[in-house]
Amino acid sequence: MEEECIFCRIVRKERPAEIVYEDDTIVAFKDRFPHAPVHLLLVPRKHIRSINDLADSDWAVVSTLVMKARELAERFHISRSGYKLLFNVERGAGQVIFHLHLHLIGGWDRERA
Ligand code: 5GP
Ligand code: ZN
Repeated sequence: MEEECIFCRIVRKERPAEIVYEDDTIVAFKDRFPHAPVHLLLVPRKHIRSINDLADSDWAVVSTLVMKARELAERFHISRSGYKLLFNVERGAGQVIFHLHLHLIGGWDRERA
């Protein structure tokens, strides 16, 4: 947990966010500046800087992020039309928030609910 980390503050409910799912391990919320009709961020409650900083024991966290992203894609009706799952790793790749997060992006051609 880091005092100044924006995503830690969202996890602690100290900063507003449109949370769409949470459990003991992860929190998922809408991106504030969406790049597509559906743009969610899935983050571990635990502060981990990036994929580079994962410990071997964090495998379950990554697995939960991916499996929950798949489930949220269903819930937001973008499973069949298609979606991207993206981890930006460090500045050169565009990471600007240094708390591990999985982008779920889609909905350009969303099925009707
Ligand atoms: P990165 O470029 O680090 O992979 O992605 C960070 C993402 O966080 C960006 O897509 C950005 O729009 C989003 N973001 C930045 N600040 C906030 C915030 O305060 N709330 C929410 N919900 N999203 C944020
Ligand atoms: Zn953090």
